Amino acid sequence: MTNDDGRNDGTEGTEVPDGSGNDILALDWRDWKRVLCVVAHPDDTEYGISAAVNAWTRAGVEVSYLLLTAGEAGMKRDPAEVGPLRAEEQRAACECVGVDDLVILDHPDGHLVEGLDLRRDIARRIRQFRPDAVVTLTFEFEAPHGLNQADHRAAGRAAIDAARDAGNRWVFRELAEEEGLEPWEPDVFLVGQVGDPTHVVAVDDEDVAASVASLECHREYLADLPDHPKPADFIPPMLAEAGALIGERNGVAFRVYELGGVAKSRD
Ligand SMILES: [Zn+2]
Repeated sequence: MTNDDGRNDGTEGTEVPDGSGNDILALDWRDWKRVLCVVAHPDDTEYGISAAVNAWTRAGVEVSYLLLTAGEAGMKRDPAEVGPLRAEEQRAACECVGVDDLVILDHPDGHLVEGLDLRRDIARRIRQFRPDAVVTLTFEFEAPHGLNQADHRAAGRAAIDAARDAGNRWVFRELAEEEGLEPWEPDVFLVGQVGDPTHVVAVDDEDVAASVASLECHREYLADLPDHPKPADFIPPMLAEAGALIGERNGVAFRVYELGGVAKSRD
């Protein structure tokens, strides 16, 4: 992005007019060391975002996934069986894109509440992992693919609040005082699956293939959804469409918000 005075504020990239009056930029992530993806369920990162994750991990960026629920209410069979099954499928999906670090919390699937408990849990993970960027999915009521799911709305909104909470010593002060977790504020917050992206992460064919493979890892889950399109049929065109926004062959589109990383210089 560019400030009012024309200076680059750190997310500047190759600018390609999209014809709408809004300039979408190639996201410059070369200085990042760590990225934390915060989502509601197993499989949420696999609808495109995992292609960007693969590009990041190939370049040496450490990526961690924080799943707020185990997705136990997402299949036709007993939730007690589904939670462990989906964790196993998620671990396989993580392996496809170079992610070793997977944390699954036990907030109830389908009943995710955007509140202080959720914000504290996300803020805790941000302080532990100390990411440069936090990634989540659209938290709008209406997403490009249709009406958004309740847990997705709660997850995204809590994540952006927690990204700020994590940087403030006086919010959830027990994290520092009792758990020894010093404040940490990420520099940027990325929201995926949005209808109004500001930036695109360029990815190559290998990243696209890894992304398709990562969703295919949710084998039992997808088998429960007979009308679900095949990952290989819809992910490559979706990533090609996003890539075209910046004149690249493939990409992953995000809406990017600057957080400033104030806590980094303050502490
Ligand atoms: Zn979901």
